[in-house]
Amino acid sequence: MLGLYIHIPFCSSICNYCNFNRGLYDEALKTRYLAALVQEIGRAPAFAAERLPPSRFALRRTSRTDPPQSLRADTIFFGGGTPSLLDPDEVRAIIDACRARFDFPAGPALSEAAGRVEAEVTLETNPETVDREKLERFRAAGVNRLSFGVQSFQDDELKRLGRIHSAERARAAVRDARAAGFDNISLDLMMWLPGQSVDAWRRNVDGLIAASPDHASLYLLELYPNAPLKEDMARAGWSLAPDEDAADMYEQAMARLDAAGYQQYEISNVARPGRASRHNLKYWTDGEWLAFGCGAHSTLDGVRWKNVSNTEEYIARVTTGLDVVTERRVLSTKERLEDALFTGLRLVEGIDIEVVGARYGCDVWERYREALEPFFDGGWLVREGARLRLTRPGMLMANEIMAVFV
Ligand code: SF4
Repeated sequence: MLGLYIHIPFCSSICNYCNFNRGLYDEALKTRYLAALVQEIGRAPAFAAERLPPSRFALRRTSRTDPPQSLRADTIFFGGGTPSLLDPDEVRAIIDACRARFDFPAGPALSEAAGRVEAEVTLETNPETVDREKLERFRAAGVNRLSFGVQSFQDDELKRLGRIHSAERARAAVRDARAAGFDNISLDLMMWLPGQSVDAWRRNVDGLIAASPDHASLYLLELYPNAPLKEDMARAGWSLAPDEDAADMYEQAMARLDAAGYQQYEISNVARPGRASRHNLKYWTDGEWLAFGCGAHSTLDGVRWKNVSNTEEYIARVTTGLDVVTERRVLSTKERLEDALFTGLRLVEGIDIEVVGARYGCDVWERYREALEPFFDGGWLVREGARLRLTRPGMLMANEIMAVFV
């Protein structure tokens, strides 16, 4: 089934390391943007119908001449930017627009009625934007998973990143979310921050475990060339810990999370049983998704496309009926195979090379065995039957190993 991604490009302040498609919150612009989003979502099935066979659609036809109307989807992910800046009624309106145009498991209802498989509806949330009452309203609007951008449990590190919440605000937001009825909460932490020691990182991991989320994502800070944080680092004399320390940070974090009962399921992600991100798994399991909003990327039936990035231009195009897509590419079978291999290898369970090979008409083992040999010898990659997977030390070498496929 499809995943639906909704991009909300507004933030209350801009962090000094951020290279995402976002801008400062503007009430009037947001109102026009949300109207455009709802319009774009409404057009999606017709757009997809031009590309997909009718068997891909749930046919909600009232007469035989009606076009297919509805694709099946089972996740909605609000990313940004800071989607939690929206009012819960605005989030509800977007979920309703998705319900109207896509078929979700067990029908369009997203409620917690007994025995139903709910769609997974995730809202990326910044701790400073929510209190208990707002979280209760998000839950009532149909959001059932929160992904908090915590990044650190230490105030000095948060300041360095230009984040506007405190560690205590992050802990309180998780408590508020539990009290509001959320039983699927994820926290993001960033690792290898300027001036961060291995000890300081360990304290962050312990802070995360103490907050007891259901899921966690641990990302390496990536500094893009002109990031203001680079200037701050030069001015303040903050440096990054050496590479060996970064490897140590990763290994220590995973060991602590293992001991706390989390299961690693992807290079950067761990979860309690049954709480892996259903939406993000689509990116790693050769899945398909439609993405709405400025700068959003979609993948469907071997075609990949990107919406125009600029928010004003996006609104203008949607409201005048112009195509919002600026880049569109039909992937070759070879590219689809390569994508399936290198994204799938990010998963702890790895990839079934027979299944992927059958899908793309290729003997994966025959084609890549020789190039992969050094990584087997180094203990970074293993083959178990038809499964190829990275070992944990291999996860630190993932870029080198995946380069074999592209
Ligand atoms: S809150 Fe997130 S999206 Fe917004 S500026 Fe900071 S890192 Fe970027």
